[in-house]
Amino acid sequence: REPSIAAGREPELPKRTVILTHPDRLYWPDEGVTKEGLADYYTDVWKYMAPFAVQRPLALLRCPDGIGGQHFFQKHAWKGLNENIVVIHDPKDKDHTPLVSIDGLDGLLGLVQAGSLELHPWGSTIADWEHPDIIIMDLDPGPGVPWERVIEAAEETRARMNQAGLEAFVKTSGGKGLHVVSPLKPSADWLVVKAFTKSIADQMAADSPARYVSTITKSKRQGKILIDYLRNQRGSTAVAPYSTRARPGAAVSMPLTWDELSPAIGPAYFTVNNAPTRLAALRSDPWEDFRSAAVPLEQPKSRRRRA
Ligand code: ATP
Ligand code: MN
Ligand code: MN
Repeated sequence: REPSIAAGREPELPKRTVILTHPDRLYWPDEGVTKEGLADYYTDVWKYMAPFAVQRPLALLRCPDGIGGQHFFQKHAWKGLNENIVVIHDPKDKDHTPLVSIDGLDGLLGLVQAGSLELHPWGSTIADWEHPDIIIMDLDPGPGVPWERVIEAAEETRARMNQAGLEAFVKTSGGKGLHVVSPLKPSADWLVVKAFTKSIADQMAADSPARYVSTITKSKRQGKILIDYLRNQRGSTAVAPYSTRARPGAAVSMPLTWDELSPAIGPAYFTVNNAPTRLAALRSDPWEDFRSAAVPLEQPKSRRRRA
């Protein structure tokens, strides 16, 4: 069968030039999602996803034979990289290991062509490696935690971010939990940002020890939610907004508005198959104000007020 080129299925969709080989390869067999179906999904969501995906070091979960085959969690560039993928180098890496980034939809489609089923960017951009522009609080429910408790944890995390002068946004992980994400003006370095997120997680665990833990001690997690702040250190990654997950169900990590959080919408509710309908039905980007809400961590509003 001929390789296929889809040059944008609707006039307002971004241009695509990447040639997909084996477009009918099933990446999620049970859901009928093919390589081409995945490329179409990313084309649909690209205008919302782009700010979280471009110009950042990326880790990838590659599954060239689909979710039933081998999974490779990969941070480094490989031989025969698609020409739309941009190789970058961490200025602090003495070994000069080539890393992967993209600067547009074609780069992402190059990653799709290579079987990348999950995209995990850094929280800083290659314009400013040392100063994160995103904080991510990863809420990981242990066994037996009702979903309502996870929603409450997200709302409490939001309130604590707000108290510190930061805005907060929420997305499903596409797995088991929720991610509370705050925009930053890049200014504080990784150590400061990590210490800040640790203090939030530790405070939540100290105030509600029956609900929350802030350290990964498995024995303590039954019935509790891990407030995982360790996404916020240099070189750590978290799954990108709108990224698919290489798990059964073809779920995606879906940005929500706060009033959408409800027991009806579980962590893997949104999928490759239902996301485009959702986005078409929305009046606007659920995270429309994300970048304009960014402030530097050093001078959060509440601290300025108190000072
Ligand atoms: P869930 O809601 O199920 O917790 P999640 O994406 O938050 O989904 P976590 O296990 O909480 O999953 O977070 C793991 C994070 O660690 C990933 O987001 C990824 O960026 C990073 N990571 C580091 N090494 C790996 C690996 N080998 N495989 C997958 N993720 C990895
Ligand atoms: Mn998680
Ligand atoms: Mn986690």
